[in-house]
Amino acid sequence: MARDDRTQNQDDPRDAERRELLRQIAAEVAETAHWLGKDRLAPEVMAAMGRVPRHAFVPRMEEALAYRNRPLPIGHGQTISQPFVVALMTELAAVGSGSRVLEIGTGSGYQAAVLAETGAEVWSIEALPELAGEAARRLKEQGYDKVHCRQGDGARGWPEVAPFDAILVTAAAAAIPPALIDQLKPGGRLIIPLGLPDGAIRFSARQDLLRIEKAADGTLKKQIVLPVAFVPLIAPRQDED
Ligand code: SAH
Repeated sequence: MARDDRTQNQDDPRDAERRELLRQIAAEVAETAHWLGKDRLAPEVMAAMGRVPRHAFVPRMEEALAYRNRPLPIGHGQTISQPFVVALMTELAAVGSGSRVLEIGTGSGYQAAVLAETGAEVWSIEALPELAGEAARRLKEQGYDKVHCRQGDGARGWPEVAPFDAILVTAAAAAIPPALIDQLKPGGRLIIPLGLPDGAIRFSARQDLLRIEKAADGTLKKQIVLPVAFVPLIAPRQDED
């Protein structure tokens, strides 16, 4: 666990904010239990959420809001996801020590940090060069050595290091990118918001979060988990890779 040393500090005023955030996530899980089929998340997931300093992953002017249970702008028209959604996706991925995880849409790097705090090794792809560079620097500064970052089109996956135990897509896709299914291990999980944002109002989206499990024989078991609102997956220019 990368940050045990610093986040256990009793004097950090942000510890109280992080504990309050965990309470709010637990409350939202309980409120959506009819969708999720469970009324609490794994203690390992909550512990991972409690260890990541979210304020280090948001722009300085948003720092005061870092521990609110809401998405925040991170520039370039993108957002850091709502903590409840990050926790839920981590739970659905069912990863831990020794797991290999691919994330599409590094954004701020926050979801990648939470995954790393479960003990997983993480490969994360970001389309926008500015965000990719910032996130890689931030994750390194925060000591997340088990997160590997790359700029490029996540829809193609990361074939050189596949297969993965879990793949998380943190932007909404119109369809499941076939490369991601190919790069899942048998028994692997793909967590992906499917559907498109409403064109008129950016976050008035019509999307569902899906959990897709690839069986040993390659067949897919799909489960619709919850309605969600993500920014859209974009198709970066070929020459940006
Ligand atoms: N997981 C992020 C939130 C991501 S917002 C976090 O924890 O902060 C979605 C991100 O996906 C944005 O940064 C966006 O630039 C990126 N993105 C969109 N389309 C992409 C693509 N085809 N490949 C890789 N990243 C993409």
